[in-house]
Amino acid sequence: MHYVTRFAPSPTGPLHLGHAYSALTAYERAKAHTGMFLLRIEDGDTSRCRPEWEALIYADLRWLGLHWPEPVLHVTAREDIYANALNRLHELGLIYPCSCTRRDIQTAMSAPQEGAEPPMGPDGWIYPGTCRHRTMRDFRLGEAIRLNMANALEYLGDVSRFSWNETGPFETGTHRLDADQLIHGVGDIVLARKEIGTAAYHLSVVLDDAAQGISEAVRGADLMQATQIHRLLQALLDLPEIAYHHHRLIRDEHGKRLAKRSDAKAISKFREEGYSPEDLRAMIGL
Ligand code: GLU
Repeated sequence: MHYVTRFAPSPTGPLHLGHAYSALTAYERAKAHTGMFLLRIEDGDTSRCRPEWEALIYADLRWLGLHWPEPVLHVTAREDIYANALNRLHELGLIYPCSCTRRDIQTAMSAPQEGAEPPMGPDGWIYPGTCRHRTMRDFRLGEAIRLNMANALEYLGDVSRFSWNETGPFETGTHRLDADQLIHGVGDIVLARKEIGTAAYHLSVVLDDAAQGISEAVRGADLMQATQIHRLLQALLDLPEIAYHHHRLIRDEHGKRLAKRSDAKAISKFREEGYSPEDLRAMIGL
């Protein structure tokens, strides 16, 4: 099979060393497989994405020595594709509208122990099912759309036949979907978000990986537990199975994972200060 991978940053801030590690790992795996490296701009959250961050992504990646075919895929150009997929899931009776706020979910989960935190899954709190009885017929603009996990599992039958290969350094090998884990450890995930008004990450990522012909997704180990969601959506939407390579996370001197939100030092800052791409590679152990 022809090897195709991608780097899929969101232009919500400057790239840091963690992104450099992810992009370079993907790029080098593509080279080692004489395959292809693609770029995708995950700009679905229009309230947080900015064109200047996107321009900086291109400049940083070029400076690191990466090349990719043009045009670059943008999530914002694919709303019809996501809407079609949601329609398909609607026809199958697998989605429902949800008006719950974070506070509603917290209240529903923590009663009767006031203030207790709801259990967490790879998509955040495991949804208590408050809106599960609702149907798309009473969908109101501005509501989120959730997957009815129990119905999805019933539709697919024995989900252990859906597997994927993990090629990264952790949990390497074949994994299979597990119905119990999906019900109790994942729950009714959000597929479209009210505040964004478009597909949520889990839905867009599987459709975009399929559209770009990705054979292996290279990304940080923080997304390891989300892979079961992606494999499930591939099964529901008849998309091909792909491999996943979750790499280690780059941490700061206190052992904290680098994040855009905390002020992890931007690649562009290193660039301004006269560091070379080789210096950066050495810093992240490449
Ligand atoms: N846009 C996602 C991120 O920046 C990419 C996730 C993925 O590679 O699947 O974390």
